[in-house]
Amino acid sequence: MFALIGTVVDAEKVLKNHAVLVDGTEVINVIPRDKLGEYGVDEIYGGEGYLVLPGLVNTHTHVAMAKLRGLGEDLPIERWLKEVIWPTELTWTPEEIRRWALLGMAEALANGSTTINDHYFFADEIAGTARELGIRAFIGQTVMDLVDFPLAEPEKGFKFFKHWEGKDELVKPALAPHATNTVSLELMREIGAFARERNALLHVHLSQSREEVRTVKERYGLTPVEYLAEAGVLHENLIGVHGIYLSDGEVKLYSQSGATLVHCSLSMAKLEARIAPIIELYTAGTNIALGNDSPNPVGVMDMFTEMRFAAVLNKVWRKRTDVASTREVFSWATIGGASALKLKAGLIKPGYLADLVLINARKPQFLPGENVYSHLVYSTRGSDVELVIVNGEIVYRNGVFTKLGKTLEELWEELRPSER
Ligand SMILES: [Zn+2]
Repeated sequence: MFALIGTVVDAEKVLKNHAVLVDGTEVINVIPRDKLGEYGVDEIYGGEGYLVLPGLVNTHTHVAMAKLRGLGEDLPIERWLKEVIWPTELTWTPEEIRRWALLGMAEALANGSTTINDHYFFADEIAGTARELGIRAFIGQTVMDLVDFPLAEPEKGFKFFKHWEGKDELVKPALAPHATNTVSLELMREIGAFARERNALLHVHLSQSREEVRTVKERYGLTPVEYLAEAGVLHENLIGVHGIYLSDGEVKLYSQSGATLVHCSLSMAKLEARIAPIIELYTAGTNIALGNDSPNPVGVMDMFTEMRFAAVLNKVWRKRTDVASTREVFSWATIGGASALKLKAGLIKPGYLADLVLINARKPQFLPGENVYSHLVYSTRGSDVELVIVNGEIVYRNGVFTKLGKTLEELWEELRPSER
């Protein structure tokens, strides 16, 4: 048994000078620090000036796109995808994917994400890499049937799912149809039936460009959310991403379905100069989660940055300062993601998974320390993370990925371009 000491914070409570006790894969208790002597604790981490958080749940990622960081800047999403991203991706080898996916997920882990929900080609390589690193990972093989893209053949998605189903405690397969305009209604129905049979999670891009909305309307006479309903996938196992063009009617339909909407504000602000009607969705009862999307276009796999932008951009988008409070945004980054992925995580309580993050807050930006939610959303950087625990095991500590036996700098060294 070990203990993390500091101010224990989740979206329900702030407990100063407390200890979180971890045994096996779970949190077994949260106690005042002065009661620690009553327990037989082997190791203690943290102390005065530290924050203990639930691990952040990065609910939409494409970690291997670390290889594309900085390419195609300032383009709108459809041109960015078709002119820059897809042509480059078609040339990749599985080995390259493995190396760059490791870099992207290691970056996310070091910055406090204990879970990723990844959507990409070569899912098998990405899943294997996640297992080596020790991050909790939901992985879906991206499939499309309306774009000529050999890496995204529909059969690959089912095959990947069957191969990884029940195989690993931390790495779980999901189904990942690309988007409502790149997957036919027939294929989406087939994926939906497969998902229902296996109680699988479905992870799909939704209403992420004007062209997507127009194409789906022309093809089927439906909005993207109506298309999902028609395909039988609009339910509590659906994780829809972006939703930046949702109409009022779609917000209502989506909110009644139990599906989650993943908000990637920074990515959409860059690629479409727009964000989703998150406040409307949240008010109507939709579960909201946050995701970094990918190192391109976002630049950094850091959920603290994501929280900061979510808080600020929602205020700007609604032209109101009283929306997206720091506590709400923090709940989206923790409980929201955990509920989307059906994990007993996102809160620090007995019986919850020991997916935890220790922040070294012994720094100027954490004073005066009274409004901890504000400090987490507006003052914390991923580099303030000192220790990351996934499933009760230390997987990152002070720059070292413990399962991998490598440092952040060694990963940089392996992939940096030669300067000679
Ligand atoms: Zn995406």
